[in-house]
Amino acid sequence: MLPLIDWHPHAPLQRLHLDGLQQAGVQVAVLRLDLIDPLISGNKWFKLTEHLHAARTARAAGLISLGGAHSNHLHALAAAGKRFGFATVGLLRGHPQQTPTTMDLERFGMQLHWLGFAGYRARHEPGFWQPWQAMYPTLHQVPEGGGGLAGALGCKPLLNMVREQLGAVGWDDYDGWWLAAGTGTTLAGLVLGEQGGRCVYGALAVPEDHGVAPQVEAILQAGGMLERNFALIDASRGGFARVDEALLEFIQRSEAANGLPLEPLYTAKALMALEQVVKEGGIARGRRLVFVHTGGLQGRRGFA
Ligand SMILES: *Cc1c(COP(=O)(O)O)cnc(C)c1O
Repeated sequence: MLPLIDWHPHAPLQRLHLDGLQQAGVQVAVLRLDLIDPLISGNKWFKLTEHLHAARTARAAGLISLGGAHSNHLHALAAAGKRFGFATVGLLRGHPQQTPTTMDLERFGMQLHWLGFAGYRARHEPGFWQPWQAMYPTLHQVPEGGGGLAGALGCKPLLNMVREQLGAVGWDDYDGWWLAAGTGTTLAGLVLGEQGGRCVYGALAVPEDHGVAPQVEAILQAGGMLERNFALIDASRGGFARVDEALLEFIQRSEAANGLPLEPLYTAKALMALEQVVKEGGIARGRRLVFVHTGGLQGRRGFA
């Protein structure tokens, strides 16, 4: 059975300075989920917590999940397995390759299986899990990226983390959230937590036709949420993992101005989109937004 995991990591809240924001009178503080731990980083830990509870309740010996060769989700899962002492299995997209991420996965003791591309595409088909269930009957299945309502509920503690630190950035309140969205699970968790109060802006790291809106809708319905206060903004810059010169320049500028490290897939695109929307007058003067740094810096090594 999984051990009882009593770990509640802390993410600092820090003021962020970017010229474009300053000029428009919009204040931003960053919730640094990239700093919760040297190995277990970002929103992926929070998305895992409810899945870990469910696995323990089911008396599972460990967890099995899927992802790509740079997956932040598998990285967090494998690191947690090593830290807290439970078995992990990763089903990977594509053909065997070595990346800094997969080398970590193996080092953390995760058992890897490469599914090829067609095999990975079959992950939503009805019989997909059957052979894995037969091979690993004591493991609990976690959907890709740690998604679903369980993943979203694990992100609710972020609200308290921000509330407790408002004084540290000189605020008495805040007006909304801004974060990168891949599946929209983390965003849905914040929408559930806010109960329709503050607006949650999701900067889409994937093109608009990737079904994020219906996915968020499904989670909110499963969570019994009637109030919706969120907006999705296209921040994909032409496609997931598409990297251009302006994006790389922005990463350097943000790192120089704030010492804030960003990776090109999610966090840099999200912050760049925020600056753009603010420049276009899309956020009213005087507003205070929390930008969630969702982590993922481990995946940056694959781009070096
Ligand atoms: C997975 C990931 C996201 C997207 O999270 P979702 O809950 O799928 O929307 C954002 N940023 C980083 C760094 C990620 O690894």
